[in-house]
Amino acid sequence: MSLIKLKDIGKIYVSEGNVSVGIRGVNLEFNIGEFVAITGESGSGKSTLLNVISGMDTYEEGEMFVENEPTSHYMQVDWEEYREKYISFIFQNYNIIDSFTVLQNVELSLMSIEDSKERRKKALELIERVGLKSHIHHRGSKLSGGQKQRTVIARALAKDSPIILADEPTGNLDSKSSKEIIELLHEVSKDKLVIVVTHNEEEVKDFATRHIRIFDGKVDFDKKLSEDYYVDSEKPLVLADNKKKSSLKSDIKNGIKLGRIIFTSKPKLSIYLCLLMIVGSIALFFSTVGRFTGLSVIDEGVFNHIDGRVVISKRDSSVITDNELETLSKDTNALGYMHYDYLLDESYILWVARMEGDWPMDLFYEFDYRYGKTYEGSILGRYPEKTNEVFLYLPISEVKAFGDKEIITKEIYINQCKFDVVGVKYYYDNRINPEILLTKEGYELCTALANLYFYNSITFEQVSGEENFYSMINELIVSFDIPKNMIYIDKKTHLNNNDLNETAKITYKKSYIINEGFNGSESKEYVEYFDYTYLTTDESLIKDEFIKDASKYSLVCSPNILLELSYNIFETTYRQASLFYENDTEAEKALSQLNEKGYTALLSNTENRIDGGAALLFMIGNAFSFIGWIITIIFIAVFINLCSKKSILAFKDDIAIMRSMGIQSKVIKIATYVRMIISSLFGIIAMIASAIFIYVNPVANMLFAYIPYSNYILMIVGLMLLTILVTRKQIKNLFTSSVRVTLKGGAN
Ligand code: ADP
Ligand code: MG
Repeated sequence: MSLIKLKDIGKIYVSEGNVSVGIRGVNLEFNIGEFVAITGESGSGKSTLLNVISGMDTYEEGEMFVENEPTSHYMQVDWEEYREKYISFIFQNYNIIDSFTVLQNVELSLMSIEDSKERRKKALELIERVGLKSHIHHRGSKLSGGQKQRTVIARALAKDSPIILADEPTGNLDSKSSKEIIELLHEVSKDKLVIVVTHNEEEVKDFATRHIRIFDGKVDFDKKLSEDYYVDSEKPLVLADNKKKSSLKSDIKNGIKLGRIIFTSKPKLSIYLCLLMIVGSIALFFSTVGRFTGLSVIDEGVFNHIDGRVVISKRDSSVITDNELETLSKDTNALGYMHYDYLLDESYILWVARMEGDWPMDLFYEFDYRYGKTYEGSILGRYPEKTNEVFLYLPISEVKAFGDKEIITKEIYINQCKFDVVGVKYYYDNRINPEILLTKEGYELCTALANLYFYNSITFEQVSGEENFYSMINELIVSFDIPKNMIYIDKKTHLNNNDLNETAKITYKKSYIINEGFNGSESKEYVEYFDYTYLTTDESLIKDEFIKDASKYSLVCSPNILLELSYNIFETTYRQASLFYENDTEAEKALSQLNEKGYTALLSNTENRIDGGAALLFMIGNAFSFIGWIITIIFIAVFINLCSKKSILAFKDDIAIMRSMGIQSKVIKIATYVRMIISSLFGIIAMIASAIFIYVNPVANMLFAYIPYSNYILMIVGLMLLTILVTRKQIKNLFTSSVRVTLKGGAN
């Protein structure tokens, strides 16, 4: 049995309509132990012959047998496997990977050794054997021709394949190096088949066991020179016992290793790819941040959701009393209740007066009111203890106004009533509404303030007269500076100018709307008369510039007066209350109990039923924003694809070399993915870094919508997908042309 047998082999090249014969009617047999020299004129078909034997080129005519097995039916994968197991190829132009070190080049052929230490040891041994010990870590591009060819031989030895094919291996070397290379080949040829194509018969004369001359694509003569090295190869070498396919696991392992080597071996290219991925992922990040801006608005419920909160009203629409609530709360095991829960469902614009340089700045901000709540983690200052104290839970963008080491802005106005800021806590998730914490009394006052704010008017009327000759709209303000039961009136504007005297009456009139949103709404009017005994004109009471200014258009009253006014209204009209339970699950259990007792009870997380039209608009809006997002992603993908194309194609030669060495395409493909994925990891890091930057930085925090953690996972998956898609496309480009076309074989 022969190792390789060629039977009537013919290879024809067709290019641009020209047909040229590579080789024709070639009948040859080769065996282990032979050292074959092939000579012939340029263009006679020597390279073609080697290419056919190596499986790098297909043949059209005849049949090639490998250990008696025909190969004409072989597919690309079969040839790859054949090359991997049988062939080491040595080219005239060396074909080592310039960007790899000698060690990496050799190790590339030792992929089959699983243990990396053993692999390293073997590689070093072989490098020493070809005399390159001092050049282990030199890159291929830094080696001389002879050193490159030695590396190639070490690589061939590393592979330990039965066949070594060398196409004019010394063609570019000086005579001394040539001699060394041939000797080296001879030295390793004892248990292998070595076929050397050469110009120079002389240099192989002493070593060759056989001399074949090719002329015009045919075998001119085939001469045996010695029998010395003949080894009987009756038993199959490779095919029979080595047929097992490489496992997916080891393919992946080798792919990852190779990918890492590729990544580090071309640092400039890798940095470029990393930058590209960084740009891509930051673009993805910002387009995602953009997508989530303004989208979460509609999905809000009827009530502000507080875990464990149940909102009740009586089924007969009558007013709920405090006693009633107390028992109800006990009977249903509630943690507590809030009778006038109006503010829980209001987002309030808070008028913040703060000093910025010398100029007072007004900030309108939305706040939620809560009381009895604490926050996790450290806070600045403390929680409120007095009625006029507040604690603010603010987005980090407000850090400039309120300070981070001590509280800078100490005063805020809620519906024109000044409160003291005693504590602050900042948060980074800018989807959350700011919150303001108060004491129970403070909360009640704020509820009264909110009640006061709309639809009220104050009228001065003469007791004797029929006409109201002086009225102010919306102008009763509250100050903690005013003593209990007092109303401050600015003498100059309100008394002197309008001829009011002590016989006049002051009427407080308020139109209000009952229970908007839950039990329907109903407008009513409330009237209260203030006696003159309430009034003070003592200017020294007013210390605050703002109140002083406002008092020209308003009456300023003590908090208790406002509370009385408002709660008088509430007591007869407010028909809703909130009960609080451990959590929503507990709250849900209480619902049926409350229903039995004659209440309509709703969980605070009850969804707002948006009507069909709005829902449709929302869906359309959502769809558009989603499509926009997808288009952005496609755009980024195209961008990455275009920018990486050239740099990846620069790898074509290296890949061809790897394939000529018999490294399977799938391993190289895995390596290509690995390299791109490593690059995209840098992108992910950049994305996370920019996320941290923009959310921690107060100014940026205000500008960009905060996105939930789950979306980062989505983005990372998206980026990975993108990387894989782009790489897949590039790989298609890389693997279209055959190894031979890329490498152009040996020189003609
Ligand atoms: P050698 O190596 O002996 O110099 P080759 O085997 O390279 O010769 O070439 C043999 C013949 O095949 C030449 O006539 C050459 O022009 C032709 N040939 C080789 N490769 C190709 C190719 N890729 N396309 C077309 N013709 C080719
Ligand atoms: Mg040639």
